Amino acid sequence: MDCGEGTQHQLQRSEIKSSQIRRIFITHMHGDHTFGLMGLIASCGLAGKGQPIDIYGPEGLKEYLLATAKYSHMNFGSRLKIHTVRPGLLYEDDEFRVSCQLLKHRIPAHGYRIVEKDRPGMFDIEKAKSLGIPPGPIYGKLKQGQVVTLEDGRRINGRDLCGKPETGRKVVYCTDTVFCDAAVELAKDADVLIHEATFAHQDAQMAFEKMHSTSTMAAQVALLAGVKQLIMTHFSPRYAPGNPIGLNDLKQEARAIFPNTKLAYDFYSYQVPRRREENKVKVGAGVRSKEQARDAGLLVIDDD
Ligand code: ZN
Repeated sequence: MDCGEGTQHQLQRSEIKSSQIRRIFITHMHGDHTFGLMGLIASCGLAGKGQPIDIYGPEGLKEYLLATAKYSHMNFGSRLKIHTVRPGLLYEDDEFRVSCQLLKHRIPAHGYRIVEKDRPGMFDIEKAKSLGIPPGPIYGKLKQGQVVTLEDGRRINGRDLCGKPETGRKVVYCTDTVFCDAAVELAKDADVLIHEATFAHQDAQMAFEKMHSTSTMAAQVALLAGVKQLIMTHFSPRYAPGNPIGLNDLKQEARAIFPNTKLAYDFYSYQVPRRREENKVKVGAGVRSKEQARDAGLLVIDDD
């Protein structure tokens, strides 16, 4: 999502390799969201053989990339595909669905919503064994919820051996924007909302003029959309250490409205908890420590 100046170098310092990048989504054409693209594309080694890269973004992105490539004598080859996005569904495969919505910024800016598709419930191997079903290819059929007839004539419904389907997770990315209903709509029921918070609450006037969000706007979007976790990003340098208002103030302002708020920083990572039904059981079944809870894939709220 987005590619500001220096992304390529930060990637080299991270655990992600540029060769792993398969799709890039650009929200809008402002430089702090696009200046890193050419360097990143160049470092992906598109000249060789490998998987294609699809870039999604607003109108103008294609012209920008093609012109920059032309005047810097760079050849994208045939592996780079640039897609101009419109609000609605823009990508779908077996695992994910990605859609976008127009936000409210000085130029057209899109928020993105990534939805993981629901997965079949966990197959209960112990139960299958206790019923005397011999392990083998038959387990594969049962896992898919099929009805199978055993050699002894018993008919087994795979669904009886599977837990409830696991609801797919949703991650929503909203930047740049002033508070808008489209962001609330896009973020509905998300596991994680990543939302810009350029300004502190007291600088709301500036936020409206520049069409950016305050910490409290981001928190209101999270609250109204009923998300599980808000991660704020895109802070103005005016809140850097040594200034009267700091990033901790922005965090406190947001938490007064939406307590599950975190601030993003370089190399910050957040594991989106799975939505397995059995996790609810595990909570009641005595998860004693945060570590245990994390291992069980549960959402753990840190106090920091
Ligand atoms: Zn912008």
